[in-house]
Amino acid sequence: MKLTFLGAAGTVTGSKYLLETGGLRILVDCGLFQGYKNLRLLNWQPLPVRPTEIDAVVLTHAHLDHSGALPLLVREGYRGPVLTTHGTRELCGLLLPDSGHLQEADAEFANRHKTSRHQPALPLYTEEDAHRALKLFKPLDFDEPLTLGALQLRLRPAGHILGASSVELRQGERTLLMSGDIGRPDDLMMKPPVPIAHADTLVIESTYGDRQHDDGDHAAELADVIRRTAARGGMVIIPAFAVGRAQALLYQIWLLKQANRIPDLPVFLDSPMAIDTTGIYQRHANEHRLSVDECRHMAQVARFCRTPDQSRELNQLTYPAIIISASGMATGGRILHHLMNHLGDRRCSVVFAGFQAGGTRGARLVAGERSIRIFGQDVVVNAEVVSIPGMSAHADAAQIIQWLGTLSHAPQHIYITHGEHDAADALRRRIQRELGWRASVPMMGDCVDVPLAV
Ligand SMILES: [Zn+2]
Repeated sequence: MKLTFLGAAGTVTGSKYLLETGGLRILVDCGLFQGYKNLRLLNWQPLPVRPTEIDAVVLTHAHLDHSGALPLLVREGYRGPVLTTHGTRELCGLLLPDSGHLQEADAEFANRHKTSRHQPALPLYTEEDAHRALKLFKPLDFDEPLTLGALQLRLRPAGHILGASSVELRQGERTLLMSGDIGRPDDLMMKPPVPIAHADTLVIESTYGDRQHDDGDHAAELADVIRRTAARGGMVIIPAFAVGRAQALLYQIWLLKQANRIPDLPVFLDSPMAIDTTGIYQRHANEHRLSVDECRHMAQVARFCRTPDQSRELNQLTYPAIIISASGMATGGRILHHLMNHLGDRRCSVVFAGFQAGGTRGARLVAGERSIRIFGQDVVVNAEVVSIPGMSAHADAAQIIQWLGTLSHAPQHIYITHGEHDAADALRRRIQRELGWRASVPMMGDCVDVPLAV
């Protein structure tokens, strides 16, 4: 089998892997490149294979860096099945049309303000393309086997977010396992990723390949910044991924309130997508650690701001309060308005609780930049900026090694992807040092041979 790395090689976004075997072409993940402009431009590059020649797409999970280029693939002619879990399908039903809508809004903004070299600027894809893509979804249960030519496909629970899976492809006695994003064993909401047992070749993520989530009490860090900000009379602004992070934050805030560890501030969830996702988590209660009651508390701790008017009303708030809004890396969405309003106010705080990809406003704020450009204006940063990476939904290096340790025997090879260069290389060295296994970090466009047939 030929495996070509078409994304998430040397970077954390744009996950896309092409598998070719026995006349069959399978694309595992179809993600958007995000972050630096040179990465985002890659979204416009044609794939080395015609979309009409791909037989199946498999999605590990719904985050846009794994699913967000699917509407483009469909726009360019892909008509095959999109195989994924039920949870991922529901979440994609929110994320993909929203992404299409944002692409259209960006193109419209560029045309109105003539900020693009292209006249007219076109969206990468539209909301309608996204709806067309959703019609191709063929959801599977976790662990339900499916035959694709000579291959057996199974989606294995990977923790991380609702519906997230690792993709197992078996032919005869040989197995290729592609990790997708791996959750942490100690996640507040998600169950741990299932043990691997057997794999001859592995493709593994390395978002935190060079880092260790500190053992500190992340709830205490969050509680501290909320208390400090409330005492100053400021607003706590939390940019959060609408899918996964926002729900974990709501649940954590409910726990802190229950334990009287933070004052009973009003909490606002200003993201229609996060609100809808919260409902999906409630409906899939068997897939995470929260009971139906805990889900209800999670949902009720915040007031939901669905309409643009409700969002604008937050500008009139009397301090202090907590606002959770998307996007998580402050690359777009309603959070930009809240940052615009509060970054200049030293009483306020901005709390990042997830990975911030290089080149995003989130990464710049966490790095301590004193001025950030939003809507074409330079906004001075006086607010306290706090990063709690320990709240991430990704396993850290030690947790990945621990997950690999569930293999019954050494794999022939491990390909390390979905990490910035230093993180991927650090994980490679650690795997070789601690497990003595062969591992390498592929470059974008690399094509390798995976031994699959018996
Ligand atoms: Zn993810």
